[in-house]
Amino acid sequence: MTRERIYLYDTTLRDGQQTQGVDFTAADKIHISKALDELGIDYVEGGWPGANPTDSDFFDAAPKLNATFTAFGMTKRAGRSAANDDVLAAVLNANTPAVCLVGKTHDFHVTTALGITLDENLQNVIDSIRHIVAQGREALFDCEHFFDGYRANPDYAIKTAKAAYDAGARWVVLCDTNGGALPAQVHAATRAAIDAGIPGDHLGIHTHNDTEHAVANSLAAIDAGARQIQGTLNGLGERCGNANLVTLIPTLLLKEPYASLYETGVIHDKLGQLTALSRNLDDILNRVPNKTAAFVGASAFAHKAGLHASAILKDPSTYEHVDPAVVGNERIIPMSNQAGQSNLRKRLADAGLSPEKGDPRLSQILNAVKEREDQGYAYDSAQASFELVAREILGEMPAFFEIKRYRVTVERRRNKHNKMVSLSEAVVVAKIGGEKVLSVSESMDPEQGDQGPVNALTRALVKDLGPYQDCIDDMNLVDYKVRITGQGTDAVTRVIIDSEDGQGRRWSTVGVSANIVDASFEALLDAMNWKLIRDGVKPV
Ligand SMILES: [Zn+2]
Repeated sequence: MTRERIYLYDTTLRDGQQTQGVDFTAADKIHISKALDELGIDYVEGGWPGANPTDSDFFDAAPKLNATFTAFGMTKRAGRSAANDDVLAAVLNANTPAVCLVGKTHDFHVTTALGITLDENLQNVIDSIRHIVAQGREALFDCEHFFDGYRANPDYAIKTAKAAYDAGARWVVLCDTNGGALPAQVHAATRAAIDAGIPGDHLGIHTHNDTEHAVANSLAAIDAGARQIQGTLNGLGERCGNANLVTLIPTLLLKEPYASLYETGVIHDKLGQLTALSRNLDDILNRVPNKTAAFVGASAFAHKAGLHASAILKDPSTYEHVDPAVVGNERIIPMSNQAGQSNLRKRLADAGLSPEKGDPRLSQILNAVKEREDQGYAYDSAQASFELVAREILGEMPAFFEIKRYRVTVERRRNKHNKMVSLSEAVVVAKIGGEKVLSVSESMDPEQGDQGPVNALTRALVKDLGPYQDCIDDMNLVDYKVRITGQGTDAVTRVIIDSEDGQGRRWSTVGVSANIVDASFEALLDAMNWKLIRDGVKPV
């Protein structure tokens, strides 16, 4: 049986960027678009060229993709021709193979927001789409407020959508811009668009999650005959977000009737990347991953002790709707039992440690990890620190050096130009091979001024490590993330440091304290110790 093709259109980099607190750099956008491409997404919408400088930079440096790279913009404004609209010209100048233009289909918005007649708006849509097609580009038309428009004035909403199709749009995308529609309405309005002469394989759906129905609404449109879905990774997007592709993709591939009826550009084998992709995006955004996210959340396949866990051990399908491994996620069973120990042994083996099965120290490690995670440590994202905890308990932790004390001062004062400046200074006393070493450093960078207390401390620590110096010199801090965990008086600061060395290794370590400098120092020491172990350095 041949399955019909559903096309997936990602707008993480455009609509997803409308999320509060989300601001992608051009480098982030390159990274994300490559990951989307690797997954098998059909269209990657890069942003609105000309509308903001980051988007323009990104389009200039756009990576080569198998996916159809798409620029977003709006239909030409009234009172000028499509060829003479500078906003539209900027969109076309990005030279993407496809261009998606948003335009009005709700009569109220045409007369109130734009202040033009319904016929003028219709002509703007037609002229803009024709202009895109005449430039040899694939044209998509986003029908803004389509479902509200369809309720208010169905004839006009459908007429505008149909006009875009007749003008040559490859896809006419029905948008629930305010996110207030419900599945039955989406189904009926999508059906109406098809009945009016827009074939389903030219119809797309773009939903927002304001009633928590973005995914359901997307499926309702598919049920009615639409064949393109627009959405974002992790459901990023303005207000409550867009339709979540991370939920939609496994739903289409694994759940019936979709799995039998349709195929997408994402093949089954690629589903295993999904959990990592979702967490990676949170990492870029320094967000706490949503534990209860469908399919990819850390709790999605976590079974509490008791009845469920014992049934799961007999047959996982008793309490799981899909196999977690298929989407790259993991089953979590309470660590104290056998399955927990075998997971642990695998993690230790990855680090080159191999305690025997049944070794009592295994449960000591599990307990230590659990206790520390309760204090705020996060070992999922800090494998190197996890390894050090295990080494300590297994008696395989070399003592390279000992920190006797450290001090950091932060001074803020007026300089001779009467400007407030700050200066951080750190002193570290370490004992290396029976010898005390004292290092002092300021965080003053000639170019950037004061770099803060953590920087001063790092500089002091790496300044003189005697026999270890060569090994440490090869190491770079590449990312530094701070998060407050817990609440009220229990709140602590968690610092995660990503380090890299000349051999291309990258590792993450964690520190936790009520004091951000202490937490940073702890993560930094872990990073150094791990590096010394990996390089096979012998303690002096
Ligand atoms: Zn949107």
